[in-house]
Amino acid sequence: MPRKPSSPSWGKPPWEIRFKPPRPQRDLPRIADYVVVGGGFTGLAAAAWLRRLAPHQSVVLLEAHHIGAGASGRTGGMALAETAAGDQPGLGDVLSGFRKILETLEVDCDLDLRGAWEIARSAPKNQARSESPRNSPIDWQDSGTLRVVNQVPGGTVDPGKLVSGLAAAANRAGVQIFENHRVSRIRWRKTPEIEIEVGARQLASIAAGRVLLATNALSMAITSLRKGMHPRLTLALLSEPLPERILKDIGLAARHPFYTLDFPYLWGRVRRDRSVIWGAGLVHSPDSNDLDAVNIRSAESAGTLSRLEERVRQLHPALNQVKYTHRWGGPILFRDSWKPVFDWHPHSEGTKNAIVAGAYAGHGVALSSYLGKWAAEILTDQGPKLPRWGQINS
Ligand SMILES: Cc1cc2nc3c(=O)[nH]c(=O)nc-3n(C[C@H](O)[C@H](O)[C@H](O)COP(=O)(O)OP(=O)(O)OC[C@H]3O[C@@H](n4cnc5c(N)ncnc54)[C@H](O)[C@@H]3O)c2cc1C
Repeated sequence: MPRKPSSPSWGKPPWEIRFKPPRPQRDLPRIADYVVVGGGFTGLAAAAWLRRLAPHQSVVLLEAHHIGAGASGRTGGMALAETAAGDQPGLGDVLSGFRKILETLEVDCDLDLRGAWEIARSAPKNQARSESPRNSPIDWQDSGTLRVVNQVPGGTVDPGKLVSGLAAAANRAGVQIFENHRVSRIRWRKTPEIEIEVGARQLASIAAGRVLLATNALSMAITSLRKGMHPRLTLALLSEPLPERILKDIGLAARHPFYTLDFPYLWGRVRRDRSVIWGAGLVHSPDSNDLDAVNIRSAESAGTLSRLEERVRQLHPALNQVKYTHRWGGPILFRDSWKPVFDWHPHSEGTKNAIVAGAYAGHGVALSSYLGKWAAEILTDQGPKLPRWGQINS
């Protein structure tokens, strides 16, 4: 008996995902040229791009919950260059590629690439692109004095608008989007047979010409991501909108998003309404493969969130009385090398009919769409080969 695909208890982020698949939903076809599993940034961008490259072929997107239910609808929204492990051979310019994808798909997500600040308790050894810490607008107390040490390419998006915009683009392009369709198993054949739990009870299946698995930190039994992979829930807070004078006092008036280079980790950004997102802290799952089971009201998550609240209050006297309006978490996948996964699924090595993309760590806002497009190019035999750095076992 299939289990009910209830939504995870990860709290509610402050933005809405306005996209709803057209109703009435059509019946799931028995066969599709391309099946994309996962309705986050990776899967949505890939699905939309597949239809651009192969307009006469069918593309089905299967999402276990609702579009954006994973990291993409819960992200901090900092758009960063490169990967979490830095630049990689043949990667190209992620940020300008991301911008072009948004322009081509006509996605408006308030993209603002004014640069991101790296902050740290001491100056980094390589000061090439650094700001002088003496002129740092940020001067916070947090296990030492946190100051701006670098400005790097990057900026921000509105995650709700990015998820909704990519989903609307995929829908306009003719992708058949099915929410509440959880892939439970794949029978690896020349034409993979995908088994699906629909809602609470029904089972269905679809034969897929080619597949993209874009479930990131979730459903790792299906993606076969194991060795050196660490799925976690990462947590975030939103403060009430702060007066401009407080943003000036704390050094955030210029609206650059920021993240620490050293530990304890801290990241954040100012939103358009002057509220501030602050993030830090990771929560383990009771069963390391099932982040769905983590509840942000659990003792571990609640404790991590309270410590983060207290840390933010202590950063600067102007933040002492700040009130928080939202607390939430989202799934994130790290791997030991910090490089993303972008590879053929191990069971499709011979047939090369399924790609796995994910494990971007906290660096997936721009990279996920970028690799989603690249995956679509490879699946339609129109793109550069999969890079060595993305190999599952590298
Ligand atoms: C709190 C938080 C803050 C972050 N901040 C930043 C940031 O500021 N900058 C940055 O660059 N990155 C950040 N990240 C990382 C970034 O958000 C992710 O790398 C990116 O969203 C991953 O997109 P995705 O589409 O690959 O995965 P996801 O968005 O996780 O999508 C996977 C989808 O697959 C679905 N799914 C899972 N299993 C199945 C199944 N069996 N069948 C069907 N569907 C399934 C899920 O429901 C989900 O919708 C953050 C992540 C979190 C959680």
